[in-house]
Amino acid sequence: MTARYLDMKTKITLSDFTELQEQLKGKIYFDNSTEHNAIKVLYATDASVYQEKPIAVAIPKDDTDIQRLVKFARKHQVTLIPRSAGTSLAGQVVGKGIVVDTSKYFNNVLEINPEEKWARIQPGIIRDDLNAMLKPMGLMFGPETSTASRAMIGGMVGNNSCGLHSIVWGDTRDNLLEAQVILSDGTEAHFKDLTKDEFYKKAQLQGVEGAIYREIHKLLHNPFNQDAIEKAYPKKALTRRNTGYALDLLNDNELFVEGSIKAFNFCKLLAGSEGTLAFITEVKLKLIPLPPKEAGLVCIHCTSIMDSLYANIIALKHQPMASELVDKYILDFTKGHHEYHKNRFFIEGDPQAILMVEFMADSQEEITLKANALIDELKEAGHGYAYPIIRGEDTKPAWDVRKAGLGLIRNLPGDTQPVNLIEDCAVLPEDLPAYITELQELLAKHQVNASYYAHAGAGELHVEPMINLKTLEGKELFRTILQETAVLVKKYGGSLSGEHGDGRLRGEFIGYMMGTKVFDLIHEVKKVFDPLNIFNAGKIVNTPPMNESLRYEAGKTTAEIKTIFDFSRQEGILRLSEKCSGSGDCRKSEITGGTMCPSFMATRLEKDTTRARANVLRQFLTQDTSEATKGNVQTKGRKGGDEVKHVLDLCLSCKGCKSECPSKVDVAKMKAEFLQHYYDANGVPFRTKVIANFTQSQALAIKVPSIYNFIVKNPVTSALVKKVLGFAPERSLPTVGKTTLRDWQINRLKTQEKREKNSFYSKLPLPSKTASRRPKKGKVYLFCDEFTNYNDVKLGQTAILLLTSLGYEVHIPKHLESGRTYLSKGLVREAQQIAIKNVQLLSEAIQDNCPIIGIEPSAILTLRDEYLELVPPSLLSDAERIADNTYLIDEFLAQEMDKKRITSDMFTQEKQLIKLHGHCHQKALSSLTATKKILSLPQNYEVQLIPSGCCGMAGSFGYEAEHYNVSMKIGELVLFPTIRKQEESVIIAAPGTSCRHQIKDGTGRIALHPVEILWNALKD
Ligand SMILES: Cc1cc2nc3c(=O)[nH]c(=O)nc-3n(C[C@H](O)[C@H](O)[C@H](O)COP(=O)(O)OP(=O)(O)OC[C@H]3O[C@@H](n4cnc5c(N)ncnc54)[C@H](O)[C@@H]3O)c2cc1C
Repeated sequence: MTARYLDMKTKITLSDFTELQEQLKGKIYFDNSTEHNAIKVLYATDASVYQEKPIAVAIPKDDTDIQRLVKFARKHQVTLIPRSAGTSLAGQVVGKGIVVDTSKYFNNVLEINPEEKWARIQPGIIRDDLNAMLKPMGLMFGPETSTASRAMIGGMVGNNSCGLHSIVWGDTRDNLLEAQVILSDGTEAHFKDLTKDEFYKKAQLQGVEGAIYREIHKLLHNPFNQDAIEKAYPKKALTRRNTGYALDLLNDNELFVEGSIKAFNFCKLLAGSEGTLAFITEVKLKLIPLPPKEAGLVCIHCTSIMDSLYANIIALKHQPMASELVDKYILDFTKGHHEYHKNRFFIEGDPQAILMVEFMADSQEEITLKANALIDELKEAGHGYAYPIIRGEDTKPAWDVRKAGLGLIRNLPGDTQPVNLIEDCAVLPEDLPAYITELQELLAKHQVNASYYAHAGAGELHVEPMINLKTLEGKELFRTILQETAVLVKKYGGSLSGEHGDGRLRGEFIGYMMGTKVFDLIHEVKKVFDPLNIFNAGKIVNTPPMNESLRYEAGKTTAEIKTIFDFSRQEGILRLSEKCSGSGDCRKSEITGGTMCPSFMATRLEKDTTRARANVLRQFLTQDTSEATKGNVQTKGRKGGDEVKHVLDLCLSCKGCKSECPSKVDVAKMKAEFLQHYYDANGVPFRTKVIANFTQSQALAIKVPSIYNFIVKNPVTSALVKKVLGFAPERSLPTVGKTTLRDWQINRLKTQEKREKNSFYSKLPLPSKTASRRPKKGKVYLFCDEFTNYNDVKLGQTAILLLTSLGYEVHIPKHLESGRTYLSKGLVREAQQIAIKNVQLLSEAIQDNCPIIGIEPSAILTLRDEYLELVPPSLLSDAERIADNTYLIDEFLAQEMDKKRITSDMFTQEKQLIKLHGHCHQKALSSLTATKKILSLPQNYEVQLIPSGCCGMAGSFGYEAEHYNVSMKIGELVLFPTIRKQEESVIIAAPGTSCRHQIKDGTGRIALHPVEILWNALKD
């Protein structure tokens, strides 16, 4: 019987991999089952333009696993692709091999020596997380990429990364002291500073380790080679030099240069070798003291890019910590951006470019002196037109605009998009004006626009040309522009890669940049380290053509897909999925914070990132089938629907990505749309129906509240209910009130009416706080959402009493439920019917221009978000008017505070500390500012935000048995531990019903809605 090869080239069989899996402590995904295939699909890309499905994906647990993988790779002649966060821009972690992801298990800090200022760590530690750990010791690891919130040390070493402050803190190579690696023969080696004697001892070793010392010595000891290397590399003063292997830096030590005191260290070569020479399992990093506390950013507003480049040369004379450029292209994308618009506070007029020059010092006076000296010189030289100085905390949001540059420009509409191609070229800063002038001419010749930003101070501008890679012409242009730019860079003695590396993008041109002789030496080095080519084949050396295996198949048109949601603002569901550039902002941990992406924060698996979800969807949607043109996303013609569903499974639809992803990749919306199509083709599961029809079940339950509440509270019956529904046994089920909020309000109004008409009723007591107040501030409509109507009835009553007490006339208009339960389960078509009906009903109600306010964020915000994309064009203007008039109750009260219609003197003077956890949808679509503001209304109330992301419950997600553990893990990241630390007297505030439920299940503490807190604080 012939073996079934999983890969024809390597001839690896299923049983080979099965055997390997048995030997590994970690996991390997290799076969074509839904789970395995899904994982392979999402590891087909990084942050570059490349896409190639790997043969397998391994998640090793320890060094022994890596050694086993090396052994397997040697035996089967397959390549291993080391990977950490996968944010490489030149396709470094894309290829037909086994991707080895170290981000899950190789994230331990092994040793920190504050006295000697070094840390020994594993490669899967995120750079910013490491620095958060080091901060209390007054130390930090210097090199920082714009991706520092998720990029990992292994990848930083691989690419020799650096960033904003590289002119002072250097690159990763400068800060790498030692490395523990596994070599291509499976043996371990340790690279560190070696004296001559130590070097020669190493050269006597057996195996690959001995060979590399002997062969590299032979290669570098040759005066012809030394001379060639001397001439081939960029100008000596250029610090950004990542093209090829750093042979020039090895050349420069006591072994080869007479009188040199520099020790030999292979770490210099390892840094920037992109996983092609050895597998790193541990590194020792140099640490530096934290910079001075005070920072100041001079934001030089320029009338042209050229103006900013001359300003940069002047700025560098003033020894800043950083000098970075942001051009108008990027600045314009911050306009109206949910997350970044607020960061525009420092922008004056309409600059073509802003050069951000940072100074740090012990005092602001010192910064002012330095800044003023620079500004004076710039004015004298006629560069710039405005020079605001941003200080302290305000520097972060300004820097965030610069760091989000690449993600922001991905918001460009259409298929012509910025591409990473010549973004990494570096020349000396004084050569930048001439080089950029010529580059602009080159691009103009090809009629290509570009964005210019980033590390002007280091001579490296990220130039992002806009090219349509979906066309054959675009694919050719992609090559031509790099080829012609290489000529320019060489002319200025620059480096084709300054920090992002060569990967499979620039490898093709290293020979041209360095000359054949040195390129041959580079090949020789690779051969000595890795004779069988088992480490990241096809990167730096022997790269495939740079315009092959691109994400988009040039010349292919993909059929438009008929969707239920209106995706026109995102130019269709496919374009929305394509917006994901792979920048991996969704891979930040809870230490950096934010909401996106809760499931990744809990599992630390690539599968559970926003990026993975966008990736599988994009690859699924780009399948060109004749069936697809018939309109259904999930129909017979398309393969891989199960894979997509598998990858979407842990998406909590928190909408964190809608606001926090710089490219606004709204996965919650795409997930809902996809699920509807999937269910159309495969049927709706029972549990999904039950959850979606929550309103109907609760409407029945509330007819017999005592019986229903007994069933859901009694351990035996509730266990049965949970079992039948597939809910986690540990969860408590929600109970219903004695009456619906709507009925209670009708009765209340009737009683009120009677009171006004009949003296008998007027003698009945009213809730004390309403007794003295009469409505006088106008009418408000309360959206009686399904959760408040049936379950949180008391909260609804409190909200009505609070509003009434504060002088508002509360009406509950006629409307249906919000549709949230249908949306969260992907039954979009039913949600659409509800949206249409509600818009029709509410448009009558809001004729008189009075606000519609809601208590539960996930429900009320549906009117501002999904409804606008669900109703037909004929109802759109009504839906927009409703959206404009819709407020969270917190927002409404805050506005009334601003108008001085609600004042502090109405509330208690008592002292109270409140810890506030925000609802994800509120954070994504509004903010917590209003909630904080209203809770601070009582004079002596202090409100502190809990730095939590999503609580982990997310509607029904946390109830579902298979999601329970992840749900609780999310809660345990920040929310639960913070709450557990609070004294009993501290009030926990949470506007979301799911969040309050999760807090109770996770910590036993009762969290209150802000209206309950205000009601309790309202004076009698
Ligand atoms: C929006 C954006 C902005 C960026 N800004 C910057 C910037 O300012 N400065 C900068 O330098 N870069 C920048 N980059 C590029 C990228 O983020 C950095 O190169 C980053 O350090 C890569 O880290 P990673 O964990 O994602 O590595 P990966 O992409 O996973 O890997 C990088 C390389 O290291 C190798 N590698 C990983 N782990 C190991 C290991 N254990 N052993 C051997 N080799 C290994 C891989 O094979 C690969 O070749 C940016 C990227 C994006 C998308």
